[in-house]
Amino acid sequence: MEVRDFVIKRKEEIRALVEGLERKPCLVIIQVNDDPASNAYVRGKLKDGAELGLDVRLDKLPETTSEEELLSRVKQYNEDKNVDGLIVQLPLPRHIDEGKVKLAVDPSKDVDGFHPLTKFVPCTPKGIVEYLENEGFQFQGKNAVVIGRSNIVGKPMAKLLLAHNCNVVQLHSKTSEEDKRFYLAHADLIVCATGRLYLLNSTYSYKPDAYIVDVGMNRGDDGKLHGDVEPNLPVKLQTPVPGGVGLLTRLALMENLLEAAK
Ligand code: NAP
Repeated sequence: MEVRDFVIKRKEEIRALVEGLERKPCLVIIQVNDDPASNAYVRGKLKDGAELGLDVRLDKLPETTSEEELLSRVKQYNEDKNVDGLIVQLPLPRHIDEGKVKLAVDPSKDVDGFHPLTKFVPCTPKGIVEYLENEGFQFQGKNAVVIGRSNIVGKPMAKLLLAHNCNVVQLHSKTSEEDKRFYLAHADLIVCATGRLYLLNSTYSYKPDAYIVDVGMNRGDDGKLHGDVEPNLPVKLQTPVPGGVGLLTRLALMENLLEAAK
């Protein structure tokens, strides 16, 4: 099933579930920037919330907001019983310590899954695994290669695949070209999250029944969005960009919110 169709199906299920609730789950997004990419992400979250009947609110603060002011705003939402989920949109202005802010969010409301004590799975890995499960991918004993080791995608992705009993190898910028070729040729599942345009391409060998998940989002010279993976590689399944992991990430956020509201 195409990612778009999977998302439409899950959204219909969520909408029906929300209609049966006494109180609409509430998500607060604090944004302390006016960055065009962040504005687009936030618009997407507000749109998803409205579509699903959820109460998603934006608290947009000026870039001059101090760390102390932001932390006190976070505390206020942590204590508000009507707020189920709280996220602080990244990036934050340079004068604010991102780590401190992540730790300040109540772990039971941390629907982004960024707090070390959070009970939520970070949205991108969660959305990817749910989609692969729906595709009937059998995780157990499969060779999974994760390219990238960031805290928001690569690391939690590898951890989640390990929890699903995959044999996980994590590659990064210091991996030799020779080793990369070796691991890619033996992979049943490849998740690429580097932000490097077409890092994976037809110069590498892949198993014909491999699944490739493209997390990357790169603005090409044509002004359009492209992935880390060249389109139409000779494999069983390859997620597109756009219309792939971005949609799954948004869906997983709304699912985490429902869980937080339970
Ligand atoms: P990041 O923090 O910049 O991390 C990139 C990772 O890629 C690093 O671990 C880096 O290795 C690795 N890398 C860079 N060049 C490489 C190379 N030539 N070979 C192998 N590994 C290489 O990025 P991120 O936040 O994880 O995001 C990655 C991409 O996913 C970006 O394009 C981002 O926009 C996109 N993204 C999409 C979604 C979505 O919902 N669709 C969500 C989040 C992110 P080192 O650690 O060695 O430097």
